[in-house]
Amino acid sequence: MTRIGRLAPSPTGAQHVGNARTYVVAWLHARSRGGSVRMRIEDIDSPRIKTGAAEQAAEDLRWLGLDWDGEPVTQTHRLPLYVAALDKLKQRELIYPCTCTRSDIAAAASAPHVGQEGPPYPGTCAHRTVADAERLAAEGKPFAWRFRVTVSPAFTDLYAGEQRIDLREHGGDFVVWKNSGTPAYQLAVVVDDAEMGVTEVVRGDDLIPSTPRQLLLYRALELTPPAFAHVPLVVGEDGRRLAKRHGDTRLAALRDAGVRPEALVGLLAWSCGWVNAPNAIAARDLLPQVRLAAIPPRPFVLTGALLRSIGYAPAT
Ligand SMILES: [Zn+2]
Repeated sequence: MTRIGRLAPSPTGAQHVGNARTYVVAWLHARSRGGSVRMRIEDIDSPRIKTGAAEQAAEDLRWLGLDWDGEPVTQTHRLPLYVAALDKLKQRELIYPCTCTRSDIAAAASAPHVGQEGPPYPGTCAHRTVADAERLAAEGKPFAWRFRVTVSPAFTDLYAGEQRIDLREHGGDFVVWKNSGTPAYQLAVVVDDAEMGVTEVVRGDDLIPSTPRQLLLYRALELTPPAFAHVPLVVGEDGRRLAKRHGDTRLAALRDAGVRPEALVGLLAWSCGWVNAPNAIAARDLLPQVRLAAIPPRPFVLTGALLRSIGYAPAT
């Protein structure tokens, strides 16, 4: 079987050191096993894409020493594919129109919730059928399409092992098409990965709760799911996910400050347990070393001292 990995930057927030670690792992994992790598710009799920942001994302990845096969795919150019998938879900009566606002859902939620998703969808509109959409449209009521969750598929993560997440606690019935008329992240990603022939998805472990939902969509759309590897994130010294409050860790800022990509890649490789010291190394020179199992099972704490060690002092 041909192995196909992917790099899927979202151009909304510029790529930073945290994203970079996941990209390096994803690229090495595919390339080290003779696989190809596809590139996709995930620009559909966002109201605010800056001009040139997609080019910037590609430039950041190239700077890291990563490459990809074929032309990059851009989600906003692929709307007909997502519409076709939505139609299939409608034909199979697996989704229903939902008119709830965020505050409706919060107000109706009774069960305590876990995870970052907010309260599980309380099922307010679950009595509706696909045919009800016509009436709602005629009444001028905006609605989203929600997928009816009946089971929570377990899966075996290539890195994190057996995962069992109860979707009734994690979000419940989920949106596949937003009331703004655009596909939701879950649907777009499944359609794209399947259409691009992706066989392995390496991404941050904050996306573990997305995976059972995506597996439901693969089944519903009669598509073959890829293997998944969810790796720990990069956090700041306060233990929180790397963000603006930790100073400017954008790759563009490191580049502008004269940091060599090999210095950053060496630091990331060391954080993954592939080398004994954070010495400069090119991504391609790590191909013999890469092993998912060597990555420590906890977030990587990016300290100011580590950044200074590669010649970077972030402005805060
Ligand atoms: Zn609803």
